[in-house]
Amino acid sequence: MADPKTRIRELTDILNKHNYRYYVLDEPEVADAEYDALMRELIALEERHPELVAADSPTQRIGSPPAGGFQPYKHLAKMYSLADAFDFTELEEFFDRVERALPGRPVAYVCELKVDGAALSVTYRNGVFERGVTRGDGETGEDITGNIKTIRSVPLKLNAGDPPVVVEIRGEAFLSKDQFARINRERGEMEQPLFANPRNATAGTLRQLDPKITAARELDAIFYAVGYAEGLDLESQSGVLTWLKSAGLKVMEQARRVESGAAAITFIKEWEGKRASLPYEIDGIVIKVDSLGHQAELGYTSKAPRWAIAYKYPAEQQTTRVIDIIVSVGRTGALTPTAVMEPVKIAGSTVSRATLHNEDEIRRKDIRIGDYVVVQKAGDVIPEIVAPIVSRRDGTERQFVMPDKCVVCGSAVVRPEGEAVARCTNIACPAQALMRIGHFASRGAMDIDGLGEVVARELYELGLVKDVSDIYYLNRDDLLRIGHFQDRAAANLERGIEASKTRPLSRLLFGLGIRHVGSHVADVLTRSYSSLDELAAAGEADLTGINEVGPQIADSVAAFFRQEENKRVIERLRAAGVNMTAERVQVEQTLSGKTFVLTGSLVTKTREEAAAAIERLGGRVSSSVSAKTDYVVAGESPGSKLAKAEALGVPVIREAELRALIGE
Ligand code: NAD
Repeated sequence: MADPKTRIRELTDILNKHNYRYYVLDEPEVADAEYDALMRELIALEERHPELVAADSPTQRIGSPPAGGFQPYKHLAKMYSLADAFDFTELEEFFDRVERALPGRPVAYVCELKVDGAALSVTYRNGVFERGVTRGDGETGEDITGNIKTIRSVPLKLNAGDPPVVVEIRGEAFLSKDQFARINRERGEMEQPLFANPRNATAGTLRQLDPKITAARELDAIFYAVGYAEGLDLESQSGVLTWLKSAGLKVMEQARRVESGAAAITFIKEWEGKRASLPYEIDGIVIKVDSLGHQAELGYTSKAPRWAIAYKYPAEQQTTRVIDIIVSVGRTGALTPTAVMEPVKIAGSTVSRATLHNEDEIRRKDIRIGDYVVVQKAGDVIPEIVAPIVSRRDGTERQFVMPDKCVVCGSAVVRPEGEAVARCTNIACPAQALMRIGHFASRGAMDIDGLGEVVARELYELGLVKDVSDIYYLNRDDLLRIGHFQDRAAANLERGIEASKTRPLSRLLFGLGIRHVGSHVADVLTRSYSSLDELAAAGEADLTGINEVGPQIADSVAAFFRQEENKRVIERLRAAGVNMTAERVQVEQTLSGKTFVLTGSLVTKTREEAAAAIERLGGRVSSSVSAKTDYVVAGESPGSKLAKAEALGVPVIREAELRALIGE
């Protein structure tokens, strides 16, 4: 263990270097979670050894001094950072500190979303926009007026009858998730380094020397504070938000005043689940004491107000290193590259692999073997490499090359013109066969209990199952050849196989693994054809006549049923007694020709169930509202589709009316 003095110096230097890369260059070398861990180590050491706090300690300073390129501007009132809390204990400590400092007085708080962008200050003189400035080191920022003028949500004139003589309004510039994705896509295509997250992209965009580039990136901004004002009398943070809104500035509509710390925690929990559905990133919730009088009593540290705290959600990004890029072969023969990384913990789970999809994606992101990278795992979404950290390269990194021979069977790999995916050309490739068997037996398809990946592999390797029809010709002796199988396991698998024979036609169709036929398309097809034979006899033209079936699906289905090998497999399935017809209950098509759009959540059923019920009666469910929509079904917390329906005059019905229409 280094002595505290050495370690404090070391941490101070490392963090200052990261600050420079982050605030000045907009090109961090470590994910925020890694930075935050170092910062917390420094804070803890400094608390134990206050005499060792360096004059240049990052715990005492905000951001970074303004860089060259723009005129410096001294803020009329200092712009602060925020203290943060990473768990509810730290938050409770904050509420205790506040409430102890204001004994006997009830304290209300305002909860606001912490948009992950870059801090911004805009000045209005007599109601007219004068200037837009970055936070800089809190005292002095960079005058980026030209760029701020490109943001549509920054009005050039305040909508105030009697505007304050001068007012400095604080807010956050940000990029939507869509804009961020677009910018990175374009940068990848132009071989420019990618931004690690919308926040870095925003900071980089705000400080573009060419406002035309800023304009093209479509920044947005929201406002949450009055930093300095002459001629404006406000009493609370909630009052500030109301005034800002009335003056024509965009504010966070989701902000909520709460009467206690406990209610603030409820707000935090509520948004943790909902934040993925926001069109922009938030990294936490800011909690502020509502009364400005209380705020004045509580005051500030050198870096942050004592009356506010940022609760940070578990980080969704981390930095790690790509050790290798490996290739696997899927059931359609597609070769998929996957990054193998040094394991890293993100939001509670350990991540060590991320799919890279295809060669173009690797080129576009410029990910090399040996690169340090930013990986992201947001909610249930599978982990993804966002960007390599180019500045950490030392020249030993290697470019990935897609193999020209299949990694499993050694056959030639081709990548057809215009397609992103490289494929093994051998239809008998063991990898493909094995994946097809696994898919056929999987839960969403024939759901064969006892036939998981490991058993499928053994059956394949023993030569007992070469294609899916072989599954139905296995006898007890065959099954007992499986490594760990005894009578019980064998009997169980036999039952599983038997039970699968009666699965609905759509499951069989999905299980056959026809390209472009996922479970939804399989459902759509079985609604139009009542048996596999009918479907097999339909030509491309017939198929494209079906709603939701385009030429790509039609070609693929028709080609599948033309292949001799597939015909043979189907005949063997039939001979084994596998169901090949759709059960048709005659239902009157009372909703024939009617188009529905569902929005919000329903109480008595899931949206999928509602859609299935509508379709059973001949109706159609679409995902977007247009003038042709017959009904919009509004559940609880409906989205923007409701507003669109109202604007277009489309009839809006509630769940109860829908239930009546579908005869419940
Ligand atoms: P911060 O982002 O944690 O919090 C303060 C900022 O929050 C404010 O300046 C404001 O811009 C913003 N904000 C958003 N919504 C707000 C609201 N409703 N009310 C008030 N403020 C709101 O603090 P910071 O000092 O800007 O930055 C520290 C963060 O930056 C840390 O999380 C750290 O991980 C990261 N950082 C990372 C690196 C790196 O190398 N990866 C380097 C430096 C800093």
